[in-house]
Amino acid sequence: MSDQKQNILILSLKEIKEFLAEKGEKAFRAKQIYEWLWKKPVKSFDEMTNISKDLRTLLKESFTIQSVQVHDLQTSSDKTIKLVFRLFDGALVEGVLIPTENRATACISSQVGCNLGCEFCATGKLGLRRNLNIGEIYHQVVEIMKLAHQKYNLSLTNIVLMGMGEPLLNYENVKKAMEMVSSDDGLSMSPQRITLSTVGIPRMIRKLADDEVKFHLAVSLHSANDKKRNEFMPVNRRNSLNDLRDALVYFNQKTGQRITFEYLLMDGINDSLKDAKEFAEYCKSFPVKINIIEYNSTRDKRFQRSKGESFNEFVTFLKSRNLVVNVRRSRGQDIDAACGQLAGEKKK
Ligand code: SAH
Ligand code: SF4
Repeated sequence: MSDQKQNILILSLKEIKEFLAEKGEKAFRAKQIYEWLWKKPVKSFDEMTNISKDLRTLLKESFTIQSVQVHDLQTSSDKTIKLVFRLFDGALVEGVLIPTENRATACISSQVGCNLGCEFCATGKLGLRRNLNIGEIYHQVVEIMKLAHQKYNLSLTNIVLMGMGEPLLNYENVKKAMEMVSSDDGLSMSPQRITLSTVGIPRMIRKLADDEVKFHLAVSLHSANDKKRNEFMPVNRRNSLNDLRDALVYFNQKTGQRITFEYLLMDGINDSLKDAKEFAEYCKSFPVKINIIEYNSTRDKRFQRSKGESFNEFVTFLKSRNLVVNVRRSRGQDIDAACGQLAGEKKK
């Protein structure tokens, strides 16, 4: 029965007004309801205390608020907290709170699973079940924000779309949810604090540029060699590195933003000096920042973390080419919490 009800979070303020007018309710209530939904934000109509009981009943009969429930929560020795969110249909996705001394970052999911099948990624093994809707994306941020306050007395400073799924293949919902996160009608966070991580889909990167989005773009490159990238990132077979570069040039020219490249160093796969040279060459077309990521082992044992010596050589080479390189040590290893490899384990 509840399937008949519409998710109120997909309505604009104007549409809520229209609904109220149809039912003979006062228009100013729409703004109040909208604030409860996005600014407070509540997960049930009963929490809307300045709305009359009758109107709340009417809302309940017509709508649901599709958000997320915290289903499970694990805290790592380094204070990273992994959350499993349960969605209205029972599907599970994961998020992470990553606190540092003066920052708190929320890593959130955009899809249940992913159909791009990167060989090294646990989410890729799940296939795609469905896209998350606006409320499901937004409320992951809200829950992680609450947790940062409660546990560490920290305000949420950053959001990364690096959990399960490919955000550019659920673009409209991701965009709307992030618009509300940065809107004064919502959480008022600066869009510059939001990073969208993508496997690199050229046509969607051009769309991002055309839409003049204000958030940062991180591209999971992991290899600058088509033959190699084709092997462990099948998406590359349809979208070559040249196409990707052209789209990134376009993005950079249109937005003025530099590109962040994520590069996962995997033993014997993409961590040789030749790989580093190809990567440095690929970085020449636009200003870049590089994040070297440590690999977190999954069940697929073909992929292992790069060993100390190759790891250091790779990083040193890039630095010698005057590239901006950050090494992102894996957080929350004891709880499998690193973004991107979240998944699967709960579904056994
Ligand atoms: N689909 C998007 C965002 C989700 S994946 C993307 O691919 O960018 C987020 C990041 O986690 C990506 O850089 C991905 O390559 C990385 N990742 C996947 N599996 C990982 C693992 N086992 N260890 C560390 N990072 C991993
Ligand atoms: Fe999907 Fe990103 Fe995992 Fe690739 S790395 S399978 S794009 S979630």
